[in-house]
Amino acid sequence: MLNFTVGPVMSGDAVRAIGSEQVPYFRTPEFSALMLQNERLMLQFSKAPDGSRAAFMTGSGTASMESVVMNVLSRRDKALVVNGGSFGQRFVEMCQLHQIPHTEIRLDYCQPLTEAHLAPFDGQDYTALLVNMGETSTGMLYDMPMISRFCKANGLLLIVDAISTFLADAFDMAALGADVMITGSQKALACPPGISVIVLAPRALQRVEENEEQCMYLSLKSALKNGERGQTPFTPAVQTLIQINRRLHEIETMGGVEAETRRIGDLALDFRTKIAALPFRMATTSPQNGVTSLEVVGYGAPGVPSAYDIFTTLKDKYQIWVCPNGGDLRDRIFRVGHLGALTKDDNSALVAALGQFIVHSS
Ligand SMILES: *Cc1c(COP(=O)(O)O)cnc(C)c1O
Repeated sequence: MLNFTVGPVMSGDAVRAIGSEQVPYFRTPEFSALMLQNERLMLQFSKAPDGSRAAFMTGSGTASMESVVMNVLSRRDKALVVNGGSFGQRFVEMCQLHQIPHTEIRLDYCQPLTEAHLAPFDGQDYTALLVNMGETSTGMLYDMPMISRFCKANGLLLIVDAISTFLADAFDMAALGADVMITGSQKALACPPGISVIVLAPRALQRVEENEEQCMYLSLKSALKNGERGQTPFTPAVQTLIQINRRLHEIETMGGVEAETRRIGDLALDFRTKIAALPFRMATTSPQNGVTSLEVVGYGAPGVPSAYDIFTTLKDKYQIWVCPNGGDLRDRIFRVGHLGALTKDDNSALVAALGQFIVHSS
C-alpha cells in the first residue's frame, strides 16, 4: 500500500513500532518528562517567541481549531475569517456556533488572497484574523508575510491553522507575529490521528487567562495549567504522544525543521516535475508543499477518466491512495499528498501507474 493522501499519512518504522507496544500508565514522572520534551520541541520547531506555550489536545485538528475559537476569542471580538475552501468554512461555522462576531472573506476555488481583499478591512474595528495557512482542500498556500503585515498594522490577533503546513512549509511564528498556531498528529508529524497541538504566544495566553471558560474537555486554561508539570487534565492518546515524541526527536537528529521542510519541498517538486508529462494541470498557482491539486485535462471528452475514477482505479488496481475531492470538483480534481514516509521512488510508482491507466482509458 502506498498512501499519498493528506492524512493520515504513512509513518516511519520507529513510529509504527511504538504502535505495537503496550500503552503505559501516564501519571508518572517519565511520561511528564516526555511531554515537557514534546512541548519544548514544538515551541522550537514553530519558532514560537519567548514566553509561548504548547498544549496537546486529544482530538483531531478540528478539536484544536474549536478550542482556540472558544478559549482565545470571545463575544467581545470581531474576527476576519479567510474562507477559501472547506477548512476556512469550518472556522466560519465555529465562529457562528460560538457566537464570535465575524466577517468572512470568501475566495473562489484556488483564488489567492491579495492585499485588495484585505484593504476594505484596514483601519476598522476588527480584533482577530483566522486563516488556514494551507487550505488543504485546494492545496493553496496563502501569502503569510502579507497577512502578517496586515495584522501587525491593525493590531489583530493572528490565528493560524497550520495543520497541513507545519514542518512542510517554512513557518516562523515569532517573525510573523502569529499568536496561535495549530497542527495535528496525522499530517507532517506522520503519526496516527488523535492528537492536535496548539502553540500560543504570550498575547494569546493572556486572552485564555482573561476569557471565561466555555467548555470543560477543550479548556485551554486547564490544558495549560496541567501542562506546566507535563500532564493533561484527562487521559490523552498516550501512545500517539509517545510517537510524536519519537518523531520530534527524529526530526531534530536529521537536521531540524529546516531539513524536514526541505525534504518535503523536494518531494513535492520531484512529483510535479514527473507528472508534467501526463495530461494534468496544477490547480493552484501557489501550492503548499504538502499537497498537489491536479485537474484532469480534457475531462468530459470520450475516454478521459474523471478524477474520481482515477482515485478508484489507483486504489483498487494499484493499492495506491490519493485524495478525491468532494462536491462540484469530484470529477475534475484530485489531490496528491507529499507528507509522511514517502520517497521519490514512490512518486515514480504513482506516476507510472497513472501513465498506464491514462493510456489504457483513452
Ligand atoms: C487536516 C486539516 C484539518 C483538521 O482536520 P481533522 O480531520 O480534524 O484532523 C484542519 N485544517 C486543515 C488545513 C487541515 O489540513
